[in-house]
Order: sequence, then structure tokens, then C-alpha cells
Amino acid sequence: MTCANGFDADRDVYRTLLESTKAIPWKIDWHSMTFSYIGPQIEALLGWSPDSWTSVNDWVERMHPEDRERVVDFCVSQSQAGTDHEADYRALTKSGDYVWIRDVVHVVRNERGEVESLVGFMFDISERKQTEQRLLQLQKELEALSFRDGLTGVANRRMFDKTLEQEWADARRRRQPLSLVLLDIDCFKEYNDHFGHIQGDNCLIMVAQTLNRAATRPRDFVGRYGGEEFVLILPESDTRAARTVAERCQQLLGELGLSHPDGCAGPTVTLSLGVSTLIPGEADSPLAFLESVDRLLYRAKQRGRNRIEYG
Ligand code: GH3
Ligand code: MG
Ligand code: MG
Repeated sequence: MTCANGFDADRDVYRTLLESTKAIPWKIDWHSMTFSYIGPQIEALLGWSPDSWTSVNDWVERMHPEDRERVVDFCVSQSQAGTDHEADYRALTKSGDYVWIRDVVHVVRNERGEVESLVGFMFDISERKQTEQRLLQLQKELEALSFRDGLTGVANRRMFDKTLEQEWADARRRRQPLSLVLLDIDCFKEYNDHFGHIQGDNCLIMVAQTLNRAATRPRDFVGRYGGEEFVLILPESDTRAARTVAERCQQLLGELGLSHPDGCAGPTVTLSLGVSTLIPGEADSPLAFLESVDRLLYRAKQRGRNRIEYG
């Protein structure tokens, strides 16, 4: 369609289009660092009227303090280099809340190639950010779950392997004693056969809780090694400290007095334990250490159960 004032008509069409989209258009004059235009939609999103966006400072000040330095430094350096860019940040609303914004910026140059202005669109990305944050949270929860034993809630074998490696390296570097305790429920097969698996499971949960109460230092580690076997890693714990914890496991479980039908090692549920301490040296390895503690546990079984063997 031809129109006598085609240019103005186009302008109106563009303006209507720009101001009816969800993206909020804006323009900044590079020399004066002032807004020469901002879409009226900004008011519906943030509450600030278009008139209140005067200088670049208004934009900076209405940004979350945690995002400010990162975003301003990035946008200024990109603009100076004449590079189109985009940045995500939280913009302050008039009522004091924050809305996640994605600013997509195009650098406009004159015929001589000098930066003349910046034009861009602000997008409301709060929903997307919320979904992202929920996903991140879920990811963290999943990771935490992947290191927990589903039945007893203590750390699982995977976490044990990882922790032993870390504590081993730490003890070696700092020349500190590291203690390891392997614990196995005595005659648990009979317990299960008599009471059934559900009660067997409950017994495992109670044993795990008891071990948690026995190992009290913040860095003490309680894990389920597998089946009815548990493991403690006691960093910065010498032979005496390890003995105290091991005896406390036996004592607390005894106080619980879970009756055992078979009574192969007494009338209540009991544990056999292997305990060892070392300051890791060059010739030692976590696996060899673990095997030595397993041999001690085996010895405790052979020597009648419900006892602790030290090595
Ligand atoms: P010992 O004193 O020599 O350790 O004898 P034990 O009967 O405890 O050892 P054994 O290895 O013969 O049997 C272990 C039993 O533990 C076998 C299995 O029924 C039981 N068990 C292993 N994992 C679970 C579990 O997750 N839930 C339940 N309820 N039982 C389990
Ligand atoms: Mg057992
Ligand atoms: Mg066993």
C-alpha cells in the first residue's frame, strides 16, 4: 500500500509492534549514557515508569547488588569492544522484589565505526530461572541421595570409598592418625529367619542409629558397607579414641537390648568389630588397611563374636 507519509506510517507500525510485545525495547545514547527510549511495558513489569529511566545509573542502581559488578563490568567491556551481548540479572521492582531479566544488547555504530548507541530488549525470564533453580535443587538432592543408603539413611558404600580416599590423603599429608572400624551384626541370618526381613530391616536401621550416636565427632563417618556390615572412619583419632568409639558402639547397642532369638552370642543383638589405627605412610594403601581391618573382624567372629579385635 502506498502512502503519502509512508515513513510515519511505518514508524507507527514499528512502535505499535515494539510496544505490544512482551520483550521490552530500549535505547541508550552511548555518549551521554542516557536512555533515549524505553518501552512502556517496563512499568507493568517492574513498576518504574518509563520517565524514571533517565541515565544508565538508573539501570545500575535497580540491579541486585550481587549481580551488579559482574553484569555492569561485562556489559561495559562488551559495549566498548563493540560486541553484541546478553546478560541475566535480577532487576529491582518498585515494590522491592526482584525479577530475573535477560538483557539482549546490540551495539550500533556510525559510518566511521564508532559506537553510537546501544539498543536492546529486556526479557522477563523469572519463570525460566525458577525452573532452573528447581532443577539445580533437585540435582543436589539427587546427588545427596546417591551417597545415602536407602534403608538406614547412613552413607553408602560409594560415599565410604570417596571419604576413605579423602581422609587417607588428609591424614597422610598432616601426619595424623586415622582409625577404621568394621562392624558386623552377629548371627543376623538367624535373626532374619526368625523374625522375617521387615524386622531384620528395622534392626539394621536401629544399629545404624546406634552407630551414629557412638561416633560423635563432626568428621566421624558412619556408613553401611553392605548387608549387615557397617564401617566407621574416624579421622584424627588414635588407638585410644578408636577403642572408646568401638566400645561405645557395643555398649549403646547392649543398652538397646534388641532380643536375638538364636542367642549365638548372647540373648540380644550384638556386633563383632575389627579396629585399627595408622598414620598413613608411603608404603601403605587404603585397600591394604581395609583388608587388615577385615581380617581383625574375621578374627572377632572366630573367637566367639560380640567382641572387638584390635590391630
Ligand atoms: P555372622 O555372625 O558370622 O556375621 O553371621 P551372620 O548370620 O550375621 O552372617 P551371614 O553372612 O551368614 O548372613 C548375613 C545375613 O544378613 C544374610 C541376610 O539375610 C541378612 N541381610 C543382609 N542384608 C540385609 C538387608 O538389607 N535386610 C535384611 N533384613 N537382612 C539382610
Ligand atoms: Mg553377620
Ligand atoms: Mg556379614
